[in-house]
Amino acid sequence: MHDIEEHAGPIEADVVVVGAGFAGITAARRLAEAGRTVALLEARSRLGGRALSRPVGDGQVVELGCEFHGQHDSVSAQVARSVGIGSHKVHDTGLKLIGDADGVRRWRGAIPKASPVALADFGQAALRLERMRREVPQEAPWEAPHARRWDYETMWSWTRRNVRTPGGRALMRLVIEAGMAASPAEVSLLHVLNYSNGTGGFRATTTVTGGTLENRFVGGAQGLALRLAETVADQTYTGAVVRRIVQADGHVRASGPGFEAVGRRVVVAVPVPLAGRIEYDPALPGHRDQLTQRLTLGSAIKFLTLYDEPFWRAEGLTGMAISHTGPVRAVLDGCPPGGTPGVLTAFVTGPAARRMLRLSGADRRAAVLAELVRLFGRRAGEPFDVIEQNWVAEPFTRGCYHAYAPPGLYTEFGPALKRPVGRIHWAGAETVPVEFGSMSGAIHSGRRAAAEVLACDEGAAPADLGLGPAERQGR
Ligand SMILES: Cc1cc2nc3c(=O)[nH]c(=O)nc-3n(C[C@H](O)[C@H](O)[C@H](O)COP(=O)(O)OP(=O)(O)OC[C@H]3O[C@@H](n4cnc5c(N)ncnc54)[C@H](O)[C@@H]3O)c2cc1C
Repeated sequence: MHDIEEHAGPIEADVVVVGAGFAGITAARRLAEAGRTVALLEARSRLGGRALSRPVGDGQVVELGCEFHGQHDSVSAQVARSVGIGSHKVHDTGLKLIGDADGVRRWRGAIPKASPVALADFGQAALRLERMRREVPQEAPWEAPHARRWDYETMWSWTRRNVRTPGGRALMRLVIEAGMAASPAEVSLLHVLNYSNGTGGFRATTTVTGGTLENRFVGGAQGLALRLAETVADQTYTGAVVRRIVQADGHVRASGPGFEAVGRRVVVAVPVPLAGRIEYDPALPGHRDQLTQRLTLGSAIKFLTLYDEPFWRAEGLTGMAISHTGPVRAVLDGCPPGGTPGVLTAFVTGPAARRMLRLSGADRRAAVLAELVRLFGRRAGEPFDVIEQNWVAEPFTRGCYHAYAPPGLYTEFGPALKRPVGRIHWAGAETVPVEFGSMSGAIHSGRRAAAEVLACDEGAAPADLGLGPAERQGR
């Protein structure tokens, strides 16, 4: 791996890849395996993007970025196994907690505590969403039979018409805010349906055993990214912030402060909204540029509180909590495999995250600790360390967990998510509708972008990449 500041002169490669998250690393690996030279340019001084794991001693790590994969979410786990990285189960034995304005209650199983009427109301709506999502094709959600109607509806407007009780609506809001780091009023219904297709169902996103929160990678998600990047280490440059991409004379030049990389093609594997901040010459087609203006990154801050031991386990709790009120929407047991240190991972998401961002760091920490004490009792207020990871403030991420589609985006701009623009190919967790926004989605997208580049090398016209006439002209 090279620090770009220590590199003199232009970098030349067959393919330039911008961004070393799972998507860029996967694309670079695939291209290198196919015999192409690559230059993998990463803005940060580290690799992994939204995968960020921090050592806590004894070879253990805690997760500040992405962490979970379920049974259904098999691609990232398959890739991990292929490079010798296993998974461990998230602790899920005991009771869970739910907080609201009236206090904190315990619950067991998959359904949170609420009045029977509210639960029945929510359950019926969840079943209806399950039926609807089966009508949404994974590769092209914008081609669903009711795509336009569902895409012009927000998740909240649908909820208000289909969930009658305040308790049922509150549960729906909680599920979306915790799972998508956005308010249901911001998100297209079609997007929610497509997203839950990628996770194996609407309920799976909030479920540990049998859901998408079931497993973590041993050594951390970033450990997996670093392992994958090993095969392209010699062709990787850190500190390389790409500001400009120029297509001319059968080449592409990606440049930033003090460096330039030249290749026959470029794969841009940065989050779509950030791809829109790069300057392009010639300018991007209007459709693609407008897409980058509309796809929106969620708002999430992660707080990890570290204790000598996971005291909640001895009290018969799983460590999972959800809360309708206060700053924290969800908490999970974040302990490494051996259970030491004890870690509670609190997710501050959606509108609550935005409110928190107006506070000072000290006030944010105090607010989160107060909520943990309300949920888990006095000992939760006595951590030996608190780690705040504010992804909204990260200049090379700018939000998380992933982007979401507001109403109208899929049906008006969907195909532009992955449509190449001349010699520019797009990768990233948000450029594939399949397993959108996840580690697996990022890996899918890197594979797809590499396959596009290789197909072009073999003389494939854009038609062979599955593009329609308007897309071939870059519109
Ligand atoms: C808190 C959090 C929790 C999450 N939880 C989960 C989970 O449990 N399971 C799951 O599957 N997914 C989860 N995700 C989502 C998952 O992390 C992402 O979908 C996936 O890692 C995205 O990979 P990527 O390669 O598409 O993008 P990124 O990881 O964002 O990588 C993009 C890379 O591009 C670099 N870059 C940006 N701009 C430039 C530039 N101008 N020049 C050069 N480089 C640039 C960035 O530094 C970054 O390294 C979570 C994400 C977060 C943040």
